[in-house]
Amino acid sequence: MNKVLIINTGGTIGMALTDNGYTPIKGYFRTELERIEELEHENMPKWDMIELDPILDSSNITVNEWNKIGEVIRDNYDSYRGFVIVHGTDTMAYTASALSFMLKNLNKPVVLTGSQIPLCELRSDGRDNLITSLVIANDAVVKEVCLYFGGKLMRGNRATKFSADKLIAFKSCNYPYLADAGITIRYNMNLLRQPA
Ligand code: ASP
Repeated sequence: MNKVLIINTGGTIGMALTDNGYTPIKGYFRTELERIEELEHENMPKWDMIELDPILDSSNITVNEWNKIGEVIRDNYDSYRGFVIVHGTDTMAYTASALSFMLKNLNKPVVLTGSQIPLCELRSDGRDNLITSLVIANDAVVKEVCLYFGGKLMRGNRATKFSADKLIAFKSCNYPYLADAGITIRYNMNLLRQPA
């Protein structure tokens, strides 16, 4: 129970550059994770990874994938401290919102994240988004479905993508951020959902 489960659904973060542009390729995200030395740092949580089949550009995510993600969390709920869902940015907010209503009585963090620039590229924002999401999932302070992107943690069903270009691509509508990840991760404790 001292591990985090990463559920890879696809999206830019783990895409490979092919003759047809950036494409989700089975198994490639794991290869990219193996290149991130920080994931072996002593302060990083241990993690396992499950990949949905197929992995998708998130414009192709449907309610079937929402159900699959929900089933993976249900089947592994007792074995992990928290969950990180790796997802394309285009529909990440919709998946976050759907999961927030699907996963009732959640008592652990479920953090969605992704990136604007793939991990295989020099300036990828995926490294920080992933590392910080893993830390938040392991902290287990937040016990709800949330979305971490560009230094901000937001409630899943309040998040919206507002930029296809900026590395701070999401904002939280009509609700303050649940946490700010600066030099430290500062949780806004009085705003967090309490388990029923
Ligand atoms: N089209 C990609 C997706 O949503 C964009 C991204 O991940 O940023 O899967």
